[in-house]
Amino acid sequence: MSDPLAINGGVPVRTASWPPLVPGATAYGEEERRAAIEVIESQSPFRYYGEKPLGKVDKLEEAYARYVGTRFALATHSGSTALSVALAALGVGPGTEVIVPAFMWIADVNAIVHLRAIPVLAEIDETLNLDPDDLAQRITPRTKAIIAVHMAGTAADMPAILAIADQHGIPVLEDCSQAAGAMIEGQVVGSMGSVGIVSLQYNKNFTTGEGGIITTSNEEIFRRSICYHDMGFERDMQGISVPQDSPFETWGMGARMDELRGAIGLVQLAKLPGLVGAMRGHQHRLREALGKTPGIHLRRLVDPTGDSGSYLAWFHDSADLAEKFMDALNAEGIPASRPHGGIHQYRHMTNLLSNAPVTTEGCPWSCPYNAESPMEYKANLLPRSNQLLDKARMLSLPPLLTDQDVNDVIRAFRKVTKGKGD
Ligand SMILES: *Cc1c(COP(=O)(O)O)cnc(C)c1O
Repeated sequence: MSDPLAINGGVPVRTASWPPLVPGATAYGEEERRAAIEVIESQSPFRYYGEKPLGKVDKLEEAYARYVGTRFALATHSGSTALSVALAALGVGPGTEVIVPAFMWIADVNAIVHLRAIPVLAEIDETLNLDPDDLAQRITPRTKAIIAVHMAGTAADMPAILAIADQHGIPVLEDCSQAAGAMIEGQVVGSMGSVGIVSLQYNKNFTTGEGGIITTSNEEIFRRSICYHDMGFERDMQGISVPQDSPFETWGMGARMDELRGAIGLVQLAKLPGLVGAMRGHQHRLREALGKTPGIHLRRLVDPTGDSGSYLAWFHDSADLAEKFMDALNAEGIPASRPHGGIHQYRHMTNLLSNAPVTTEGCPWSCPYNAESPMEYKANLLPRSNQLLDKARMLSLPPLLTDQDVNDVIRAFRKVTKGKGD
């Protein structure tokens, strides 16, 4: 009794659609509605003052700092502006380099280039995140910051990354946008580096549609961030009072968060542990069931119990096998894909490969301060990352998945591996 693979004309394991991965948004409901209405009825949409200010952004910052385990948090209107503000606060600018992994999001590169600094690409390892050994090779006297991007739900190897960064005295910025709620040995992402950022955009683990939050326990980074995210001057916040002649008077980026998002963000943050718990549960079951599948090597998780759980990711022995397996799984109704479809890989970022300038004068590439920095980006620059990404496949695990959906994945993996169902 054997059942041919769907790709060979057999009956697929499932035909039902797969829910989209928008974890926070799928939990939108009555609480978010009430939070938004409360702000509208207060007629006070601005965080710093108004008719009857509710302090929602303050409350979101306090709650998020407590959740992550940092002294401070600062909400912004996007993950991108959180990146720009945090990098500016670290002193990134012309004549400096920032190390980013091969697998990340263009927002990381945007922020570096907008500050007229040079992005330096580094390899990833089997975590699909920054490879600590390769990172060590990329450090120069101009390296001002390292961005550890926790991609596709999973924390980068922070203990190893921090060991190298600390040796050189270089701050690490954790980009937690794709892994809110993930942890390593109980430490939540965003609390391990000098500074962290998270995006609250629609696709993320908790969401306000657009939004971001910076976390840090470093008072100077926090003070600078307040200036940059606002109008270039400080305000009294979170127990920090502004000295008469503030030492951080600078130029602002106008990236404050508003009260509507603050209110919804606060409700969403309360739902985050439940959403992550659901995703983590599915991921854990799948890793247990599929970990010994011949020809499949699961993505390395530094702390498997602390993953945010939004993806199952694995490697095949070759790119060709990965492609064939994915096609067969897709035919069975399981929407496995290449790592983020490709657009999160440096080799597909055409603006980077072509050194697209951010100013008419050709900066940052032509900026004289940057003359000593490497700035050639070719699609084959990082062969190890390319190979890993070619051999990797992943499957999103939205919180709405049922046990039956998870069973379907297990059945489809077994069927495709054996070449037939039973
Ligand atoms: C979503 C995302 C961002 C940017 O967030 P926006 O809020 O869309 O600006 C930054 N980094 C990573 C890794 C992301 O996934």
